[in-house]
Amino acid sequence: MAIVGGGVAGLSAALFLARAQVSAAVYDQHESSLYRVSRVHNYLGFPDGVGGAELIDLGRRHAQRFGAVLIDDDVLSVKRGDAFEIQTSSGTDDATFLLLASNKRTDIARGFGLELGGHGARFVSVDERGQTSVDGLYAAGRITGLPSQAIVSAGDGARVAISIIERIRGGYYVDHDT
Ligand SMILES: Cc1cc2nc3c(=O)[nH]c(=O)nc-3n(C[C@H](O)[C@H](O)[C@H](O)COP(=O)(O)OP(=O)(O)OC[C@H]3O[C@@H](n4cnc5c(N)ncnc54)[C@H](O)[C@@H]3O)c2cc1C
Repeated sequence: MAIVGGGVAGLSAALFLARAQVSAAVYDQHESSLYRVSRVHNYLGFPDGVGGAELIDLGRRHAQRFGAVLIDDDVLSVKRGDAFEIQTSSGTDDATFLLLASNKRTDIARGFGLELGGHGARFVSVDERGQTSVDGLYAAGRITGLPSQAIVSAGDGARVAISIIERIRGGYYVDHDT
């Protein structure tokens, strides 16, 4: 599973995928909107607020702790052959599924011929499981036009990851600790 974008949506998806033993790589070029926020006061669990950059750092550590691979690189393009072929500035990787969690960057979506919609025609349309009209190509977080709050994107990344896990496993999936 390749995830383009290591903001809260991509990292949350990677955490859930990794905990389900799905090999997950997150490509990120460190331009999350959260880097522009000195202190986030509406993210549940941080009653005194949390720095935007700190929230990303905690998310990176959390996803890595459960086995997600973080690749600090720019995804330049993606082609579809038997698999998704991900072209970065340092090489090419293959993935069975691709998740776009790239917020304002919609170049890859447009490269697949997806029409953008919503306010300002900036957002990728997805079905109730987070899949676009291209089989195996998913999107999560702000790129889908959800409200622009970090906790909403984090929740959406988790939700879409669970739908992908269910597709891979072919059944209902829960991630509960005891
Ligand atoms: C000024 C400002 C203030 C805000 N204040 C708040 C606030 O107080 N509270 C709140 O809840 N929300 C706030 N937000 C909104 C919040 O930042 C977003 O809702 C949230 O970051 C969206 O998460 P995301 O994971 O969808 O996208 P992002 O966090 O933006 O992450 C997208 C990531 O994808 C990466 N990426 C994109 N394309 C590629 C590519 N081709 N290759 C590699 N990497 C790529 C980017 O570098 C980026 O790291 C604020 C936003 C702004 C701009």
